Amino acid sequence: MTQAAPQIPLPVPQPESDFYWEKCKAHELWLRRCVKSGQAYFYPRDICPFPGCFCRDTDWVQSSGRGTLHTFAIVHRGPTPAFRDKVPYIAAVVTLEEGPQIPTWLVGIEFAEGEIRPDSVQCGMAVEVVFEDIDDNISLPMFRPA
Ligand SMILES: [Zn+2]
Repeated sequence: MTQAAPQIPLPVPQPESDFYWEKCKAHELWLRRCVKSGQAYFYPRDICPFPGCFCRDTDWVQSSGRGTLHTFAIVHRGPTPAFRDKVPYIAAVVTLEEGPQIPTWLVGIEFAEGEIRPDSVQCGMAVEVVFEDIDDNISLPMFRPA
């Protein structure tokens, strides 16, 4: 009997984030926005997170999917068996054109002899969103060099 490969923990869509995950499934990245200030934010939630506002007057705006790499770490030892199957991978934070920062994976990076070349990844580099279809419900936004 073969054992199923371990699965990374996946998000469970909530009423506040259903729309977000539906759009990810369609390979579109959408953000919540404070209508009063026009500022977008991540992660999606009903109450605007900006100090001095905290309003409920929010809507959705589609992200261009473009941004810059804020920071990253090349992971060689995954925290659980499911992640160990994926090493080396790059955990990253991307600053989107619209302002919010999103925790993500950086993909599409050149490997040399199974290793990620550190000089091929630099903070501030331009990146764009791509989606990985994990299962029928979840597509994860990841970023690659633009
Ligand atoms: Zn607000």
